[in-house]
Amino acid sequence: MTHKSGFVNIIGSPNVGKSTLMNQLVGERLSIITNKAQTTRHRIMGIVNTDDYQIVYSDTPGIVNSAYELHDSMMRFVQTALQDADILLLVIEIGEKNLNHLETLDKIVASNVPIIIAMNKIDKSDEEKVKSQMAFWKEKIPRADIFPISALHGFNVDSLFNRLIELLPVGEPFYDKEELTDKPLKFFVSEIIREKIFLHYKKEIPYASEVEIESFKDLGHIIHIDANIMVERPTQKGIIIGHMGKALKRVGTEARKDMEVFLNKKVFLQMHVKVDKDWRSKKTRLKYYGYNT
Ligand code: GDP
Ligand code: MG
Repeated sequence: MTHKSGFVNIIGSPNVGKSTLMNQLVGERLSIITNKAQTTRHRIMGIVNTDDYQIVYSDTPGIVNSAYELHDSMMRFVQTALQDADILLLVIEIGEKNLNHLETLDKIVASNVPIIIAMNKIDKSDEEKVKSQMAFWKEKIPRADIFPISALHGFNVDSLFNRLIELLPVGEPFYDKEELTDKPLKFFVSEIIREKIFLHYKKEIPYASEVEIESFKDLGHIIHIDANIMVERPTQKGIIIGHMGKALKRVGTEARKDMEVFLNKKVFLQMHVKVDKDWRSKKTRLKYYGYNT
């Protein structure tokens, strides 16, 4: 068999079961879930690897629940999703009639990305309703393959998955399979902090910073994480911390929230800022932080 690989972007209104479905799709064939920001593609959420294929799933995180923001955010995501998806996975809740996102629908209809509709939560419905909903959506998006499923109960998720594999383009993996499966959780956790540093500080600060996870303890109900942010000079330390510690606090809060989504557990995050003088110019330090020198 020739190798297949591609990006599957999951879109849909809030609360329709996108994350539940992704967990089903990724979980059963667990490889890795990451929250790493990519430069060329948007956020990767789940990667599934076998010898024959690699699927890179993206969920839509953080859609805000006000009508305007939601719409905005949907639109932005759909724009990117249409550009870089190999397959669109549109999750619709049983009973959901599309009236809110007409523009989004237009975009989807106009594109030529293969599309699968997951008609979710059929456990809450009956056959007749499911049939009429399928007909409704088939008319809206004629080229879509529609699968009535229950993400929660794992019902019919396998047929949907098989169709995904069929539609997946032939190609080499995008991400190194060995490397991904070998990366410890700690790596992804440090990447989340690094991402926030990139978001909130300017100029050389992000580049002069390195994140080190000092300890990662899963206590069952909560995960305790101790992280060090290493910078090159004392002035940078001051900038990272900010006036009254506000800047660092913001990084901490945002990172913790992302970690909780990523790890699916409460997180207690402690961060310290330390100076490791000119670490970027020292071979031994670079090696210590995991860079090839
Ligand atoms: P998201 O906001 O689209 O990511 O939705 P979630 O995956 O977080 O699910 C929202 C809610 O719907 C949760 O309470 C899920 O347990 C529930 N849910 C998801 N799939 C199903 C399903 O197939 N049947 C039922 N009854 N509930 C579901
Ligand atoms: Mg979700």
